[in-house]
Amino acid sequence: MTSLPVKHGDAGAVAGIDLGSTTIKVVIYDGSRYIARIISASFDPAATASALLAAASAEYGLPAPPVTIVTTGYGRRTMKDAALTPTEIACHARGASFLLPGCRFVIDIGGQDAKGIRLSLEGNVEDFVMNDKCAAGTGRFLSATGLALGVPVDQLAGHARGVEPYRINAMCTVFAESEVISLVNQGVERGAIIAGLHASIARRTASMVASLHPRPPIAFTGGVSQNCDIAQKLGEELRQPVIVPRDAIYAGALGAALMAWDHHHMSESEVRKSP
Ligand code: ADP
Repeated sequence: MTSLPVKHGDAGAVAGIDLGSTTIKVVIYDGSRYIARIISASFDPAATASALLAAASAEYGLPAPPVTIVTTGYGRRTMKDAALTPTEIACHARGASFLLPGCRFVIDIGGQDAKGIRLSLEGNVEDFVMNDKCAAGTGRFLSATGLALGVPVDQLAGHARGVEPYRINAMCTVFAESEVISLVNQGVERGAIIAGLHASIARRTASMVASLHPRPPIAFTGGVSQNCDIAQKLGEELRQPVIVPRDAIYAGALGAALMAWDHHHMSESEVRKSP
């Protein structure tokens, strides 16, 4: 990688920050390497993001946090110093194309929404669908029902893999929680209930994206992509392989960091042109 002019104070590195509904993700990138860090969201997303950025910058070996920052996600407008505030759709598309080169479709399931994004051959967004009106089929649905079953969200897949799913009828998070409790009381095995919840998320997501005619390679991103049983069931519903790239939970923040990199160097070349 060729060396590029350094903007004072940031040693050439830039940052992308995804201020999500559930977690805040920071990626620091210098054109050849990146680090990614995550923390739970708080009531003061800007302060939490700044603290995570400072910690990540120190870990990266920077004397100070990068000057060029691009923010995305639910709280993207809360940070005053952001150079750009692109949508999560744009950032997830960019990040997924980086993590899975040639990717033609992205399915992102986060804490509070689910999205399907169709990409052109060049990686541009052609079309998208989004459910951000209801927690059904999102990470919140999983966390709430997991809590009702006494299983932490990162252990759900382990309980469900290879178990015949019990059909869960309720899609609303509140009703699903009570259905789950009543099934436990009827003696239905916990693994079968969890597999049923995963199957309902996979069915719902597949039907949400059906109108966009997903095509491979399909990248699965966002926190819920860390659940390998949902990834497998989603692939079965779509009848196509679903790939969870490394760092899939950071796709939005990484896309923001790549945009920050472009912005940073565009600014540098503009500066060089001026007298
Ligand atoms: P947002 O960007 O909206 O804050 P994330 O993409 O960080 O959301 O996703 C958060 C959701 O991901 C949580 O609600 C949780 O259900 C799910 N999740 C996070 N980590 C894991 C994991 N290790 N295994 C399974 N699910 C996870």
